Amino acid sequence: MSVTTSDTGSAAEPYVRFQHVTKRFPGNGRRGTLTAIRDVSLEIARGEIFGVIGHSGAGKSTLVRLINGLETPSEGRVHVGPHEITALSERGRRGVRRDIGMIFQQFNLFQSRTVAGNVAYPLKVAGVGKADRDRRVARLLDFVGLLDRAHDHPEQLSGGQKQRVGIARALATEPSLLLADEATSALDPETTGEVLALLRRINRELGVTIVIITHELDVIRSVADRVAVLDGGQLVESGSLYEVFAHPRTEAAARFVGTTLRDRPSAATLARLRRAHSGRLVTFRVRDRTGFQTALAATFLRHEVAAEIVFGGISELQDRPVGSLTFELTGPPGAVDASLEALRADGVEPAEED
Ligand code: ADP
Repeated sequence: MSVTTSDTGSAAEPYVRFQHVTKRFPGNGRRGTLTAIRDVSLEIARGEIFGVIGHSGAGKSTLVRLINGLETPSEGRVHVGPHEITALSERGRRGVRRDIGMIFQQFNLFQSRTVAGNVAYPLKVAGVGKADRDRRVARLLDFVGLLDRAHDHPEQLSGGQKQRVGIARALATEPSLLLADEATSALDPETTGEVLALLRRINRELGVTIVIITHELDVIRSVADRVAVLDGGQLVESGSLYEVFAHPRTEAAARFVGTTLRDRPSAATLARLRRAHSGRLVTFRVRDRTGFQTALAATFLRHEVAAEIVFGGISELQDRPVGSLTFELTGPPGAVDASLEALRADGVEPAEED
């Protein structure tokens, strides 16, 4: 398999480390074994927000359960902090798990307990005394903006508020690592934004390392420092958010990015553009370099090529431009080819839409 790791995105001090991890599940007889994770190696640095993206069934939840030791790899090793999870007894794993907070899509709150009772629960399990517990619960609820709802029950709260209770509960034991498995998938876009802002605060103010697992690229795009793309159990690409989005090196990553940025015409759009435009349709990825579009325009002008933008989109990621522009190019015989040749010589890579 090929794993592409960008050099700009290498982890500083690895906090979570997968070394050639494979996880197989026994199949249902008809299918034989099922490989959910296939030879995955990755490093997540202390203090970063790391995103894992992939379609449903790609192996994301299995990856999370390998980090917190709820699953054991069939092959390979998993390290979390100083511990090799794979070498620990169940008791040892429980100890490591105390340093890992988890939040879930369906919140998993106790309906019979109050908001404060839910947040207090892990502290109770850890044997923290009542006075200390009350103090910590109040501080946590204040942090997530729900101090005034302490005595309510979960059913009295909105989805976003429930997730904030889930987050406060996950932080109760002051974990170094927070795993968020599809934590915003049940929320509307505005509430998702609020929860993501809270996760950012947790990362920046409390220094908690966060791993976000999601099929929603917009989520990853707004919070992650680095990302990994899982496809069919394989880690097909990883690197800084910008590198993976601006320069996806694998087909699977490019497909993912395309569905989020929506900057490349779909097959249906392309067919419509062809009917409306008789010239050559050529797409350019936007470059993070001043004068890029001026250079394009100057080259077309020099070759007497008329260039009209017919599709595209530019947005920002980590304060840098990302996206692509599709041009209709028309001109005297050979002129379009000559202009594209000149651009290629200048390091620009035009993609002919066919
Ligand atoms: P994702 O979270 O990306 O949707 P999962 O990690 O849940 O993916 O699943 C990856 C694959 O592993 C799926 O084909 C799923 O059916 C299979 N799988 C996950 N857990 C088990 C299990 N306990 N037993 C058998 N198969 C499993």
